[in-house]
Amino acid sequence: MPRVTIIGGGISGLSTAYYLAKAGIPSTLVESRPRLGGVIQTERVEGCVIEGGPDSFLSIKPAAMELVRELGLADQVIGSNDHLRKTYVWKRGRLVPIPDGLQLMVPTKVLPMLGSRLLSWSTKLRMGMELFHPPAGVPRGDRSVAEFVRAHYGQEAVDYLTEPLLSGIYGGDPNLLSIASVLPRFVEMEARYGSLTRGVLKERKAARAQAAKLPLFRTLKGGLAQLIEALGKALASGLTVISGSAEALERNGCGFRVRVKGDWLETERLVLACPAHAAGGLLGTLAPDAAALLAAVPYSSSMTVALGFDQNAFPRPLHGFGFLVPKRERRRLVACTWVGTKFPFRVPDGLAVLRCFLGGAQDAGVLAESDDAVVAAVTEELRRIVGVAAPPRFTRIFRWPASMAQYTVGHQDRMAELQARLAALPGLHLAGNAYQGIGIPDCIRTGKQAAEAIAGV
Ligand SMILES: Cc1cc2nc3c(=O)[nH]c(=O)nc-3n(C[C@H](O)[C@H](O)[C@H](O)COP(=O)(O)OP(=O)(O)OC[C@H]3O[C@@H](n4cnc5c(N)ncnc54)[C@H](O)[C@@H]3O)c2cc1C
Repeated sequence: MPRVTIIGGGISGLSTAYYLAKAGIPSTLVESRPRLGGVIQTERVEGCVIEGGPDSFLSIKPAAMELVRELGLADQVIGSNDHLRKTYVWKRGRLVPIPDGLQLMVPTKVLPMLGSRLLSWSTKLRMGMELFHPPAGVPRGDRSVAEFVRAHYGQEAVDYLTEPLLSGIYGGDPNLLSIASVLPRFVEMEARYGSLTRGVLKERKAARAQAAKLPLFRTLKGGLAQLIEALGKALASGLTVISGSAEALERNGCGFRVRVKGDWLETERLVLACPAHAAGGLLGTLAPDAAALLAAVPYSSSMTVALGFDQNAFPRPLHGFGFLVPKRERRRLVACTWVGTKFPFRVPDGLAVLRCFLGGAQDAGVLAESDDAVVAAVTEELRRIVGVAAPPRFTRIFRWPASMAQYTVGHQDRMAELQARLAALPGLHLAGNAYQGIGIPDCIRTGKQAAEAIAGV
């Protein structure tokens, strides 16, 4: 049985360890933080479930639910309150609802779009004309998300739909993000139908059948930390955890040796489940070309700020899931979720929790600001946007430096080159959010793939 070492104890590394243990292979995991879970962190405050990092996973991607079921947590799964799903965009001093029927930036219903204040008449006309885009036949080369959306729906759709949505998900800049990596489904539709609206309408039947069965997002009643705790329990006998940072990496015959807190750890198989920038740093002298490709994956830094209020502190009820602030209108807030509306079992009666996102590609400096300065900036913006003047009952701040990989134009080609370079280092595997998707299900899938490659499944 090979000796296996995993660097990084987020969901990617823990999934690797879990699927290895399932195949009867014990492993050693090296984690630099004092706790496991990486960016998954849940706290309980005044009976509220507060997620510091991710709050849920997409239902349509199966890997997370598969793992949840295997861990015996199926009865703990809850879905988003999709009947209440509405998202607002802050535009010229008011919260404007995203019109019904919009799939990301693709309009599928005429009347809600015509009646919406979110976009100008010229953009609405352009959206209608998009129906006549001729099919390209084959997918075109990679482009930025902004370039792609602009070609279909114009700049205003980029500014008031795509940019705020992608900032909310990736903390990313649509002028840099790759359409082929971030929204591959739309690239296929463009090739097949020309018009994205026509593509979405044609494929709507199948999408509806799927959507009817599943909530958009799922999570666990007690928060996503339940998943980490369950993994910890399931791994109690098959995993050795070493607390410390992997500092250096060398080849050792057919295997590797990793330096942790000054001691060398010998291993036959190695899984780098840390962020790509950390993996690149470790591979620096061993495989300089692969290291350069890893180090070239940009990461954005973000911060979540949860604020608990008395429910009656708000002049108007909090309808929908929350709001997005486009870059053109942004001061500090990128997005805000009404936690108690999005999911059940999160906030007791009488309280309201607002989870705010800051940072991202344009405002990484916010992570260096003091807690007091951050809370002051956030409460001032919430006063302006939702009219809450009372001070919060509690606040919690979570800083996530360089945690969210950005798939910039050309990402897929660079990843193919990376795989080719790594073929020269048999026994080394990668898992994490820098490669095939940033969401929790994608990370679990990369961990499972690494485990299967080692187990020879
Ligand atoms: C604020 C935020 C909100 C998000 N929301 C969602 C969401 O709602 N749904 C969703 O699906 N996804 C969401 N994501 C994305 C998703 O949560 C992450 O992509 C995923 O959890 C990353 O897991 P990971 O294990 O690959 O990386 P991480 O969680 O970053 O874990 C990597 C681990 O490696 C450790 N490490 C780094 N270097 C070393 C070293 N040299 N030695 C030892 N250990 C090291 C780190 O300490 C860390 O614990 C969100 C991410 C963030 C930051």
